[in-house]
Amino acid sequence: MNEERKVAGIYIRVSTEDQAREGFSLREQKEKLLQLCKFKEYEVFKIYEDAGISAKDIKNRPAFQEMLSDMKKGKINYIVAYKLDRVTRSVRDLEELIAVLEKHSIYLVCDRDDVNTSTANGRFFVRMLTVLSQLEIEIVSERTKFGLNGAIKSGHLPGKIPLGYKKDINKKTVIDETTKDIVIRIFNMYLEGKSYQQISNILNKEKVLYPKKWRDTTIMGMIDNRVYMGDYEQHRSISKQTNGETTIFMNVVKPIITRAMWEEAQMQKEKNQRAYTRDRVYLFFQRLKCPECSRIMKCKGSGGAKRKYMYYNCEHCKIYYREDKVEQCLEEFILDLVEYDMAVKEYFLPVLADKKETDTEKFDKEIQTLKQQKERIKKAYLSGIVEMEDFSADYKIIEEKINLLETKKYESLNVNSFSFTPQQLMADRDIERENLIRTNNLDKFLKAEWNKKSKEEKQEFISKFIESMTLLKDENGDFYIDKINFRSSYASQISKLFEAGILDLYAPIAIDGKEQQIRTSVNINQEQFDDYINRMNKYFDIEFYELFQIDSNEELKHEIMKFELNSKDENVIRMVALQNDNSFPIKEKDTYTIGAVTYTPAKVC
Ligand SMILES: [Zn+2]
Repeated sequence: MNEERKVAGIYIRVSTEDQAREGFSLREQKEKLLQLCKFKEYEVFKIYEDAGISAKDIKNRPAFQEMLSDMKKGKINYIVAYKLDRVTRSVRDLEELIAVLEKHSIYLVCDRDDVNTSTANGRFFVRMLTVLSQLEIEIVSERTKFGLNGAIKSGHLPGKIPLGYKKDINKKTVIDETTKDIVIRIFNMYLEGKSYQQISNILNKEKVLYPKKWRDTTIMGMIDNRVYMGDYEQHRSISKQTNGETTIFMNVVKPIITRAMWEEAQMQKEKNQRAYTRDRVYLFFQRLKCPECSRIMKCKGSGGAKRKYMYYNCEHCKIYYREDKVEQCLEEFILDLVEYDMAVKEYFLPVLADKKETDTEKFDKEIQTLKQQKERIKKAYLSGIVEMEDFSADYKIIEEKINLLETKKYESLNVNSFSFTPQQLMADRDIERENLIRTNNLDKFLKAEWNKKSKEEKQEFISKFIESMTLLKDENGDFYIDKINFRSSYASQISKLFEAGILDLYAPIAIDGKEQQIRTSVNINQEQFDDYINRMNKYFDIEFYELFQIDSNEELKHEIMKFELNSKDENVIRMVALQNDNSFPIKEKDTYTIGAVTYTPAKVC
């Protein structure tokens, strides 16, 4: 088919139960989709209609099969549907469909879901939506089963009698006039925004039905129970084990509250859940690996009185890590990253830039879209809708993309700094840093910089650098870092800084007999070094001490380097391993001069 032509097949499906439930009609869908095609300038090849057929599987839908065959023959290159759940609600069928779409370069466009499979992200999002609608279909298909059990239908409910009901002499479940008002009151309190805990506290305080002890779980069970609007849900208590397989019998007892009120309570529940997950931001979401089995540790908040603590756990190895302890263990490491990040943003971005883009708006938009996708997955995971394992690969891709775009965006903002060489920028950074050290403010400054971030920002920050990490506990219960894997985008930044001669490594040096960790330039030549020193000299009175010569094949000595300062006011700014010019006379090995750059604050004007 000619690539330029956009030829669409419109797919419409309506099941009888949909028509009754949502008032979908074939005619309405058809009109809407024809308009959409006109707007998008697609030629319409054919309208494929499956009427009165359920979404359960693709195989038993003749029109859909016909469309598949036309797709394979190349008659159409776009499928247009109203909602994704019109096309399929089964994850397995969807995978199959996506494979066909990809093989024949066909795009799926859905009017209502903002679905477009022409990009990898689009395909991922399609999978996500399908998981959600598959959950929905299981409930709907079970709803249609009512009428199977005569006993339940005639109001003889098995099991424990819910509060507000009693059994009459024929063992039929009927309203208990003495307790039904308590049920109504509980629903009302819940709709006013009170939590399960608050409601149970009130009832205990008032000694309602004393000596009954009210618990938050009692209230939760009541709000969930469909019986109060007249329906009976079979296998409700074991539905967790059977993958949500329950049967709903409608209108089997007299309702205590209206359907509308029950539905409203469910909406309230969703709202509460969202508010609950929102303040549950896990700093190390998807970052911590179990030290025993290397699985990613799951986020777990604890309920009740200990609610303020958040945990990471491995269900397999029964390992729990408290978040505040983890953060404490990583503090120094994080502050190093904060310093690195600031240095990059303020000074070194131009060094990292490949090419200059000026259109930051474009980046912002793309970043925004990716962040929204990320949020969707996170929410679905935290509210227990999906398992992270199913989406972690996609989640990682999204994160990498966000990092890349953000770096590009900053690079485009810092075009002006290009008038400086990397070593001049390094000098500027050292000057700022030394001023902070001199006033004893560097640590305070970095901590403040970290603490002023919101929890979300902290989480973003950590995931920008770290792919995964493993922490271990010593016999005192203190954590220590076992392994950290950095993100590839961060590693490639580091190697660019190294090539530009501005990457610092920390080396142990004994200065006046006291061992210190001193920042050391490991890849710098004479010309670059002069550039650095000249700029430093504008602000500080700089001394350079040549300590000794090494060649590149020489094993680094295990004893640490020693160094004596001229005066006690003198400070070491950095060490350098300066590449000697070996071109004349030509030497066989690369040689380096190890030296120290110092300044004396008293001399600063
Ligand atoms: Zn484990």
